[in-house]
Amino acid sequence: MDKHRDHVLNVHLNPNVSGLKPSATVATNDLSNELKRQGRDIFKMGLGQSPFPVPKCVTEALCENAYQKDYLPVKGLRELQEAVAEHHRRNFGIDADPDDVLIGPGSKELMFVLQLTYFGDLVIPSPSWVSYAPQAKIIGRHIQFLPTQFENDWHLTPEDLEESCTMDPGRPRLLILNYPLNPTGTTMSKEHLKELAEVADKYRVVLLSDEIYGKIHHDGEHHSIVPFYPEGTIFSGGLSKWCGAGGWRLGVFVFPRSLRWLLKAMAAVGTETFTSTSAPIQYAAVRAFQEGPEIEDYLKKSRRVLKALGNAAARKLEEAGARIRYPHGGFYLFPDFSAFKEKLQARGIKTSVDMSRRLLEDTGVAFLPGSDFGRPPEELTARLAYVDFNGRAALEAVEGIPGDQLPDENFLKTHCGNVIEAIDRINEWMTG
Ligand code: GLU
Repeated sequence: MDKHRDHVLNVHLNPNVSGLKPSATVATNDLSNELKRQGRDIFKMGLGQSPFPVPKCVTEALCENAYQKDYLPVKGLRELQEAVAEHHRRNFGIDADPDDVLIGPGSKELMFVLQLTYFGDLVIPSPSWVSYAPQAKIIGRHIQFLPTQFENDWHLTPEDLEESCTMDPGRPRLLILNYPLNPTGTTMSKEHLKELAEVADKYRVVLLSDEIYGKIHHDGEHHSIVPFYPEGTIFSGGLSKWCGAGGWRLGVFVFPRSLRWLLKAMAAVGTETFTSTSAPIQYAAVRAFQEGPEIEDYLKKSRRVLKALGNAAARKLEEAGARIRYPHGGFYLFPDFSAFKEKLQARGIKTSVDMSRRLLEDTGVAFLPGSDFGRPPEELTARLAYVDFNGRAALEAVEGIPGDQLPDENFLKTHCGNVIEAIDRINEWMTG
């Protein structure tokens, strides 16, 4: 029999999916790994993966629970729901009921189920994370991008939100806010959050507050919007960023009582799709959400490394001519290379996609074009994830630096050398 009869089945794709490409973050990681395998010198600034190891107490909890084999309730292990609710009380002063906690196989999956379940438009600032809009497209929802400006640290202003809501005030809307922001690393003040919350409240917008980078605010001073609009906000978090456990795939949503109908519907969808989240991972996550001194120490060290590195990298880019905001949290930078527009055009580079492709070819540095985050194609912005270093070694080394002092240039060269080298290569390539 002919093994290659691949013409026999006709292509019948859901129109919402036809033309859908692999997610930019995942695709850049695959490409970087492939190029590395081919022996090229690659600087991986594409995928936003924590460089740090999972804290020891959490991996120990995972080992102790490796034998857990049963399916768990769709909403999650009761002990984990309790730990997350308690964590919410401790961190935000909000009284969450464990019954209002939903555990899922990554917050990305929960966001997809939310968009599928809630029937309304998706409203997102631009720039924002690469997957919010494609998820809405797959489901067939209308998407409204609200452009933001460098001058406002790339965050949505209450005025712009108000203006978009007045266009059709009664329309059901799901607004996603993320802070510290992926891709810029900037965050919002309490005052800014309060003003946005007032507008969301006025138009009864369902708000998803994506706070996945909250615990790695570089000064440990993350504030949540939840207390300003408790009845309309769903909190989103997980283990991927602050706990170094992206591959463990565990995300959490915390709902207000007034949105129990939505939680119930999402849980029903969950029973027909993922059934429940990995049992050993959920048992280990209980330990992570309980926090305590070991985790606090781990977080303090992570923040010191990220703050020093983020600031040093931003400074270098700025000195070379990029327009950039210094990061407040997380591990991303979002430089704008418009100052090099003419030079780049002379080399045939007109869009942020051209820029990232050619940079990778010429220097081995992988970063993501601003257009993947909803920015106009000709705007020469890019996201750099400053994570290409050995996080375990960096955490051990930072232990030796007294007090709250930040690691210096020598430390960064020794322990985060690839990131520093990548920035130098970018600068040379731009200016050269
Ligand atoms: N959130 C990370 C990023 O933006 C990686 C995970 C993902 O996109 O699924 O790079």
